[in-house]
Amino acid sequence: MIIEMEKGVDEETVQRVVERVKKKGFDAQLSPGQEKVTIAVLGSGTGKVDTQIFEVLPGVKKVFRIESPFKLASRDFKKENTIVKVDGVEIGGNKIVIMAGPCAVESEEQILSCARLVKELGGKVLRGGAFKPRTSPFSFQGLGEEGLKLLALAREETGLLIITEVLASEDVNLVAKYADILQIGARNMQNYRLLEAVGKSGQPVLLKRSFAATLEEWLTTADYLLRENNSNVILCERGIRTFGNSTRFTLDVGAVPVVKRFSHLPIIVDPSHAAGYFGYVAALAKAGIVAGADGLLVEIHPCPQEALSDGAQSLTFSDFSRLMKELKALSAAIGREI
Ligand code: PEP
Ligand code: MN
Repeated sequence: MIIEMEKGVDEETVQRVVERVKKKGFDAQLSPGQEKVTIAVLGSGTGKVDTQIFEVLPGVKKVFRIESPFKLASRDFKKENTIVKVDGVEIGGNKIVIMAGPCAVESEEQILSCARLVKELGGKVLRGGAFKPRTSPFSFQGLGEEGLKLLALAREETGLLIITEVLASEDVNLVAKYADILQIGARNMQNYRLLEAVGKSGQPVLLKRSFAATLEEWLTTADYLLRENNSNVILCERGIRTFGNSTRFTLDVGAVPVVKRFSHLPIIVDPSHAAGYFGYVAALAKAGIVAGADGLLVEIHPCPQEALSDGAQSLTFSDFSRLMKELKALSAAIGREI
């Protein structure tokens, strides 16, 4: 349930409504950064109470129910687009934010060479997994903390922000010590304890869509992060499983405008994991941008044939350079910039 307050009401009036909500046994969350204050009434029994009990309170403009299962992620709660600001980089504004780097951090030389290129080409965020969620336990699992240290080194040299995946709740503090943005991978989208822990860390977070999740399920899991008063949530479409098997996953390009309609959160596209093959990455990246994505997450590698993970979908430096050039022209054509 949403309580929309009159424009310009004072803090005290808002607090009185919040107190009333709490007295009824519900949680209240204020939508951040809006001209008009809206209060989300959260709890399992909100459907059973009459909206009138809040409508009569001073300063309340209207009270309505959110029909969708996602509440805090919905546009009903917050009308304006959320712009996630991380150290001067804005995700969700007019600028398209490029995040790129290897699938996994493998060595100092590898991550530094990627970082230098990303920086040179105008990317803002360096990706690289230190803890890797691999299908087989016998595949390379990542360098762990050593990988995080290498990412920190790359940040120190280039000034790029760092995004890296956190696989388990017990690693959140460690990863948060090094990362600017915590990534929740597709396989963990419904790991609710992990979502809570990441939400509580207060760090900006990238929530990937599970390859088996509907948009509704995805946006509802975002509520786990948002309810910890962590509004720095970025969504990432990375392909879903369909009957089509010509690409590794099927990039749900249509999800981008649908998310934009129903949610205020920024959304980026990962063309690499959707494609599974380097030759398709550029086309999917461009499709994502044209569909309205706020950024891209792209895998690159100095020598893809030798990559310890996802080499087949990793772009060489020259392919990535060409893609960046094309993306700049494309962005200008649709009134955006990189
Ligand atoms: C990744 O980006 O490193 C990754 C493992 O992706 P996903 O969770 O989308 O499979
Ligand atoms: Mn990968």
